[in-house]
Amino acid sequence: MKSRGYTRYMMASLPFLVFFLSVLPPDAQAAQAFAPGDLPPEPSSDYLEVLEDGEDLGFCAEWNPEFVYRGHHCCAKAKPRKKRRGSWCDPKRTRSNYCHEMTEDQHFYRDVLLADSNIDVLQLVESDLGIKGRQSYCSVNNGFLAWGRQLIPNSRNRIHLKSPDRCVDFGTDRMIGMIEWVGRRVAERYYAPEFEKVRLVVGDISAPRGGCLAGRSGRRGHASHTSGLDVDFGFLVEKKPAPNTFTREFDAKANWWLLKQLFQNPYACIKVVFLDRRLIRKLAKAAKDDPMWPVLRRFIRHVKFHRNHHHVRIGPHAGPPGCEADANPELEANIEENTDYDGFSDLLEWMEARPTSTLRIDP
Ligand SMILES: [Zn+2]
Repeated sequence: MKSRGYTRYMMASLPFLVFFLSVLPPDAQAAQAFAPGDLPPEPSSDYLEVLEDGEDLGFCAEWNPEFVYRGHHCCAKAKPRKKRRGSWCDPKRTRSNYCHEMTEDQHFYRDVLLADSNIDVLQLVESDLGIKGRQSYCSVNNGFLAWGRQLIPNSRNRIHLKSPDRCVDFGTDRMIGMIEWVGRRVAERYYAPEFEKVRLVVGDISAPRGGCLAGRSGRRGHASHTSGLDVDFGFLVEKKPAPNTFTREFDAKANWWLLKQLFQNPYACIKVVFLDRRLIRKLAKAAKDDPMWPVLRRFIRHVKFHRNHHHVRIGPHAGPPGCEADANPELEANIEENTDYDGFSDLLEWMEARPTSTLRIDP
């Protein structure tokens, strides 16, 4: 278990890290991550290693914002106390925002990044990946987040936060690396003046220390988003004016391109993307001639209420979609299965061919 002093030290040395720390190339990290992980084969189960209750209650008490409400368990009990949706976030936490749950280090990190727009977030993420241990605990539905990193929009990444005042934009380092990388891809693709307003709209990720996430009304807003591994993206809209929030307008071609960037990012493997089936059909039409469609389709799954955003769930390491060779996401009944297809080796190859220009952009 790392001490709190470690984090403080890391944060205090942030500006120096930017200049002096050698970084592990993302490719090397991706290669490490292709080793068999501890993820279950079914992306929708999302169950990570669980702390034994009593194993380190002090750690859980410090980081899990619902520790007391959950009866001093490290991982919240999976079953809600009442069946009624919305009744099981700690009522003491259900406020309009979670900013009061930020640690001193998180405040410091935000201040540093807001003060100096030349700091390269990807470089910081890469520096920390080699040192930091786990950040995400329990399952995505009942977990919490330790040393969460905040997503900060900057001039390179074209990111627009949907709810910047709620402090629900904290994720694992890999999550923030993934979003930053994709945000830079959007900036690259839409560099022309007529597209300068194209934005990657980012909705909820997790609270500063994770935990149950309530909507503005105070009721539970998400089944997951508790451990920094889930993020909602607005649909990519090319036409002007770019929306600042989620929209049902769905440009299948643009969003197929966006999804491919997501799946190909070198920071975090994508376990699954949730989207309404009507929109998946539109994607299928737009991507019918793309050889990656039948491969990636497996990881884009219908879940109700996903008509105005992509819900993206990452794994704890980098790597191809599904996060491991024998990933077995449920297939939609109308999807043809190619039984001869060696999907994972093709995915590895595809990952190798990903664009690299966003990995470093000199100020
Ligand atoms: Zn979501």
